[in-house]
Amino acid sequence: MGVSAPPIQPSPPDILKESGQREVFCGLTSIVWLHRRMPDAFFLVVGSRTCAHLIQSAAGVMIFAEPRFGTAILGERDLAGLADANEELDRLVKDLLERRPEIRTLFLVGSCPSEVIKLDLAKAAERLNTQLLGRVRVLNYSGSGIETTFTQGEDNALLAMLPLLPSADEEQLLIVGTLADAVEDRFRLIFERLGITTVRSLPPRRSTDLPPVGKGTRVLLAQPFLSATARALQHRGATLLSAPYPFGVEGSRDWMATAANAFGVPAERFNAVLDPLVERGRRALEPHREVLAGKRLFLLPDSQMEIPLARFLSRECGMELVEVGTPYLDRQLMAADLALLPPATQLSEGQDVDLQLERVRAARPDLVLCGLGLANPLEAEGIATKWSIELVFSPIHGCDQAGELAELFARPLRRRAVLQLS
Ligand code: SF4
Repeated sequence: MGVSAPPIQPSPPDILKESGQREVFCGLTSIVWLHRRMPDAFFLVVGSRTCAHLIQSAAGVMIFAEPRFGTAILGERDLAGLADANEELDRLVKDLLERRPEIRTLFLVGSCPSEVIKLDLAKAAERLNTQLLGRVRVLNYSGSGIETTFTQGEDNALLAMLPLLPSADEEQLLIVGTLADAVEDRFRLIFERLGITTVRSLPPRRSTDLPPVGKGTRVLLAQPFLSATARALQHRGATLLSAPYPFGVEGSRDWMATAANAFGVPAERFNAVLDPLVERGRRALEPHREVLAGKRLFLLPDSQMEIPLARFLSRECGMELVEVGTPYLDRQLMAADLALLPPATQLSEGQDVDLQLERVRAARPDLVLCGLGLANPLEAEGIATKWSIELVFSPIHGCDQAGELAELFARPLRRRAVLQLS
């Protein structure tokens, strides 16, 4: 007997599509969690002072050692085409590598300014790889706001690593998407107890410790915003497992059940390992459910995590969904979570920020999940908010973290209740 995993409905709900002004951070933001994941990698943003400010203010509070990212500033002379930006970049990279011999992988990260002046970072990476004779691997990807929203930066970074992955057809489970190290350790332990012995991760903890990929690879996505990477892994022969994302007790259990089924784990063994975790996770949810149940939630499009979070918050925390926005909807990658949303949930894809804010004001929800730029104005209007970026930085995956995930949403409501009492 197999392990029970959720059925997937063939016809997802209709959605409202919008393509107006966006209020979303660019893909450079993902450097903040990628550089923590791979301490031997360096992210060199080829951009303007604006890019440097963004990345420093997004990451500043979290850096305790010398940062593993920097910015090659394109000055006015570069932008006007008066200077050779390539020469400048080569010089800067050489300086950097002399100062930081521990760097094993260097990512050249494109930005709006480097795209505007059509600086070819793929060629730059190729040239530097030749000059550096394999001492450091130089990769490139775009984090520009023209092309990417903030979580797509990780998708692009992983895609850039893919050609370096060796080919091998051995049986393995490949977890794709950045996880907090402690969460990853717990997942590995659970998979080991289920009898799934070869489990690897992309991105790896060491940038050079790249997993192989091939026919025996079963990909389990830990993050919902990795469409391009998922497709590219399939092209390399891997099988993509369709599961809800591991947010909340139900999502985490179903995510593990999908892997267990793919590896033929008997139901008794699965239940023996998972039942205590499910039980503990549900107990941890209870105090937060008391705060969240019946509250109305509006999710503005920002991180692509909105649909699985909405599924968790409605099904496990009893919240009412006013609208679930996502910057981009990949129906294949979201199939399992879409199937678990309450019927007739209002979904929206893309953004027209003014129209969306009008809908928020008209609905007066109890809580809005949104980007940093919209949180302050909404709070000033008396609407409680949760920053979606916090969810990417927090360890929220797995049954064990379900209570903490719910707490992140309950906290602003508790704070507001205290303020109203005082
Ligand atoms: S890449 Fe573009 S959107 Fe991002 S900080 Fe630089 S200029 Fe701004």
